[in-house]
Amino acid sequence: MDPLLSLGISALIVVSSLRLLREALHGLMEGTPFNLAPEEVGRALATAPGVASVHELYIWSVAPEQVVPSVHLVVHDLRQWETVLDARHTLLTERFGIHRATLQPEPGKFTVFSPSIPSTSYARR
Ligand SMILES: [Zn+2]
Repeated sequence: MDPLLSLGISALIVVSSLRLLREALHGLMEGTPFNLAPEEVGRALATAPGVASVHELYIWSVAPEQVVPSVHLVVHDLRQWETVLDARHTLLTERFGIHRATLQPEPGKFTVFSPSIPSTSYARR
């Protein structure tokens, strides 16, 4: 193929990819609906039995009026995870109207290092 032609096609692909990416990012970066306070969600998740603390809490906006939190929960006993998970999903639904969430269980000593994203921690009070 003509090198200039293939360069042109590559440029077109890059431009359309960037456009798609920008649209996707725009969706992700939109503000949290429902006037939802991440601090309040974090504290609520960190309280009640089974959880020592909460970190890496992000509340993603996936559609207007629809959010999906993702969060790490440091649990006292991983064998109790099923109970803890159940209780947290109930809490998110009843108190915040959130029906889907990604909750990651962690033993106390385990930490995840993510240099590029600031982490938010909520200790139990
Ligand atoms: Zn973690």
